[in-house]
Amino acid sequence: MDKIEDENVKRYLKKIVGEDGIIVIEAMPEEVTDIDLAEKSGYGLNMIRKILFILHEKNIAHYRKQREKESGWLTYYWKVDLKNVETNLKSELRHLYKNLKERLDFERENVFYVCSSDIPCGRYTFDYASDNYFTCPVCGAELESEDNTEIIEKLEKRVEELEKVIKTL
Ligand SMILES: [Zn+2]
Repeated sequence: MDKIEDENVKRYLKKIVGEDGIIVIEAMPEEVTDIDLAEKSGYGLNMIRKILFILHEKNIAHYRKQREKESGWLTYYWKVDLKNVETNLKSELRHLYKNLKERLDFERENVFYVCSSDIPCGRYTFDYASDNYFTCPVCGAELESEDNTEIIEKLEKRVEELEKVIKTL
């Protein structure tokens, strides 16, 4: 396979299989067995299998099984197809957006209380805090109400940015 030029594709692959994975992918011919690929790339067979497995899970690598006539063993011929990287990226972005939006709604709809010790043990919703008589369930310190305006503003900004990106997909 040719060198991967697209920065987005590269960043995505780096995230799932690391720099080594990218080197392996770029070393892949049209179709190859894991053993040949290990020899060709200089990486260990376990590492190659791990990379192929991850790529397969993400629908980026595919294999074809073939039974060898003499030995009766199955050989797997692997192929990489980067077509699905873009689809994966889109669905990850949508997933991230959904999570952020949920988090934002949760922040907007709730009042929060924080443990008042020097290193706060936790952050709790009003219901949880009042059930615990506004004392920290971990250390017993008083719970203080928290102004989450800043958190909300940050989340709003990220949601807005993601909305723009998703619109261009
Ligand atoms: Zn505490």
